[in-house]
Amino acid sequence: MPLVALGLGGSLDATQADLGRGVSWHDVYRVRPRAELTCPACSGAVHAKVSRLGLRFFAHDSAGRPCPLNGETIEHRLLKSAVAAAVRLAGWHARLEAAAPDGAWRADVLATSPTGDRAVAWEVQLAHQHDADTADRTARYALDRVEVVWIFMRPASAGVPNVVVEADGHDLTVAGPVARFAATRCDTAKPCVRLRDLADPPACPGHGVWEAATLPLDKFVALVCRDAITWTGDGAPPPPVAHEPEHPPAHVWTSSYYLRQADAIAAANRALDEQAAGERDRERRRRETESRRRQSEEERRTANRDALRRRQTLLTPVAVRAVESATGQRPWALPGDVEHAMGVTLIAAGRPYAVVCPIAGRITDEAAERLSDLTVYVASVPERDAIARRCRQDQRIVILHAEQAHG
Ligand SMILES: [Zn+2]
Ligand SMILES: [Zn+2]
Repeated sequence: MPLVALGLGGSLDATQADLGRGVSWHDVYRVRPRAELTCPACSGAVHAKVSRLGLRFFAHDSAGRPCPLNGETIEHRLLKSAVAAAVRLAGWHARLEAAAPDGAWRADVLATSPTGDRAVAWEVQLAHQHDADTADRTARYALDRVEVVWIFMRPASAGVPNVVVEADGHDLTVAGPVARFAATRCDTAKPCVRLRDLADPPACPGHGVWEAATLPLDKFVALVCRDAITWTGDGAPPPPVAHEPEHPPAHVWTSSYYLRQADAIAAANRALDEQAAGERDRERRRRETESRRRQSEEERRTANRDALRRRQTLLTPVAVRAVESATGQRPWALPGDVEHAMGVTLIAAGRPYAVVCPIAGRITDEAAERLSDLTVYVASVPERDAIARRCRQDQRIVILHAEQAHG
């Protein structure tokens, strides 16, 4: 049941008040004698008619006539007329049942821009159509540089530019696939969640998620006319935003503004990732150096401690003999004496008499005071000098030679 007919010397469009030709509906509707009208698709005779819902259209005189426009339902006509109205509201030209000069295609609504540089075919496909047929018909439009938007009533698997429209009375809503980019930013009082491990985290570069969106059909049509909404199926899908697990579906309508925004945020995240990687690398190397330094420090300390123990073990018997010959009493040894800077204290006649190899670095003023009455035994000149620097000037320090240990 067509919305257009040929008659009165041209093409008549039932969706326009002046039928697109500066005439009135009453010039063709229920006039005597009957206006001579024919179907643009099958050339059969048609007459003007008004549906119970008030929609104007043309009906074939013979109801059973085989014509491509015959299968159209009321919803189909309603959608076509709504799209045509929205196209005209957007300042574009809309032609119904517009056929290619060579008959390669017939658009339900062919929208052309005021400058004529863009043409968009709107195809209302309510009945099931095989994906191959949809792709084939889309390709035929592409050959003539005509964009196409398919309007389906249920989600389609076809990768062609399409929308699913839901009708609630006369309210027509594009239910998808349309994606909106929702940009977010981490709490400005805290570092970005992705960069919290850095010593001096930079400001959050922003994040975002792709969300499904719906909008009224006429708004969608206007966005397509303004080229403000893009089908992502042909080119690359919108870039996934770093750290956001949700990627947008590959076949979706979205605005170039959202694509640019997501692109910019993704680029900022990548740049920051590089910067962060550099900083993490520097930090890792700093820690490695620090850990190596600590390890060699630890090794040095262990070596010093071992050397000290060896000296003390070697010198203590010699020192014991020296004390014994000086006091006539055999002293007993207190190793690792905290009071005497970790030296081996030799105690004779109930009091400290000498200290073997105290640690120079542990000799505090108090320890120096306690050592001042005692003899300090050391193994070498450097050891003696190091200890002398920490002791009283008159501190008695005696160097015992290792050979004496065997003597
Ligand atoms: Zn027909
Ligand atoms: Zn952040």
